[in-house]
Amino acid sequence: MDFLRIWALALIVFTLGASIGSFLNVVIYRIPAGLSILWPPSRCPKCYSRLKPTENVPIFGWLWLRGRCGHCGSPISIRYPVVELITALLFLVVFGKFGITIFTLGYWAFFSWLLALSMIDLDTMTLPNPLTQSGLILGLSFQILTTLDKNFQVNSLVNSLMIGIMGAVVGLWLLELISILGSITFGQTVLGGGDAKLAAMIGAWLGWKYLLLACFLACAMGAFVGGAAIAIGLLDRRQPMPFGPFLAMGAGLTLIWGSDILSTYLNIFFIGSNPDLVVLLG
Ligand SMILES: [Zn+2]
Repeated sequence: MDFLRIWALALIVFTLGASIGSFLNVVIYRIPAGLSILWPPSRCPKCYSRLKPTENVPIFGWLWLRGRCGHCGSPISIRYPVVELITALLFLVVFGKFGITIFTLGYWAFFSWLLALSMIDLDTMTLPNPLTQSGLILGLSFQILTTLDKNFQVNSLVNSLMIGIMGAVVGLWLLELISILGSITFGQTVLGGGDAKLAAMIGAWLGWKYLLLACFLACAMGAFVGGAAIAIGLLDRRQPMPFGPFLAMGAGLTLIWGSDILSTYLNIFFIGSNPDLVVLLG
């Protein structure tokens, strides 16, 4: 691919990601409030005036308005353009890794679900069922769809579907286990019911092997960030911390770098000594 074509493609992907991010802002704001995500169109949360087409342009609309409603002048949170920018960058990363394939399309959806769920969890400490359930069904459909892409066989179709279902079941079990261990260690509930459903959704997309890695990374990051927040007094020891964003980050890292992380790990600890493990995890 020549230089110009790569830049043109990147620009298209970035614009698409930013636009999807703009829609995710609507989802993040309206789903916990029980509002329709399709109607009414974007408007100022203060004065309810509709945004003009130029003001509705992702990222740039906010910059253009200098973070204020063009009608009543009340401030518009910087998180709107930030979510749009993050979505655009995630779309670029997925595209860079998977190119023009069905995987890119699927994982764009997966990342969109993860980002929306993370933001809602940060806002409300809940992970709405409609999102985790639709994400799980989408993940299983994706497993089937990627099989249809190859030389179709009923066996491989059943196999792929089983990978997703196993992933979902292991996700539920594993989070239940972490929850029990957490309650014993800290003497209080450490996970919400939504976390297990999110882990099930992630399992449906990644399969159980990569789900284990995603959960391990999530626990490590959660312990590190939680510990640091308590140490510098940002968080009270008894204060609950949303775990959804960590699960989502664990899933994202696993999706992009999972095979690298696993092979590095195996190289360090098991090089040559246990080929069965390599087969199992490969
Ligand atoms: Zn306004």
